[in-house]
Amino acid sequence: MVTFDINSLDHSVFMRAALDEAELAGKAGELPIGAVIVHNGQIVATGRARHVARASDLAHAEMNTLLSAERYLNEHARDGCVIYVNVEPCVMCLGAIVMSNIRHIVYGLEDKWIKPSGMMSMEYVRRHVESYLGGVMAEASVDLFKRFRPRDLAIMQEGRWPGSP
Ligand SMILES: [Zn+2]
Repeated sequence: MVTFDINSLDHSVFMRAALDEAELAGKAGELPIGAVIVHNGQIVATGRARHVARASDLAHAEMNTLLSAERYLNEHARDGCVIYVNVEPCVMCLGAIVMSNIRHIVYGLEDKWIKPSGMMSMEYVRRHVESYLGGVMAEASVDLFKRFRPRDLAIMQEGRWPGSP
């Protein structure tokens, strides 16, 4: 059995692909969040936020990406699949990533509002997540949010709603 080493991947290549999805989402009036799943150095699934298009609060980029590849993940997720997303996953998406058996998460912009990293202290999550790398090309995500959703950027960066204590 070959041991998977996340450091063997060029994170900037795959985060760029997630950012491209995010930009498409932003241009479509959605939150500028995109994700890709990588296996054996290849992108096997892509997705982006579709809250508006689907009239759904569940249509997060990671959920759409996971669901587009659910059969593939059922077979391969444990074997070194990595999800790249340009914003830190929320509690729902982190839960879905864990439940889909993806062990490696690479994200861009930290979300100080939801603070999903707090979920890492849950024993079940800690046991299942082997890599949780943040800050990858975070400035590119900041730029996207400045263009498309500056208010949401402020909430994520400051960890509170504008004007609230
Ligand atoms: Zn989410």
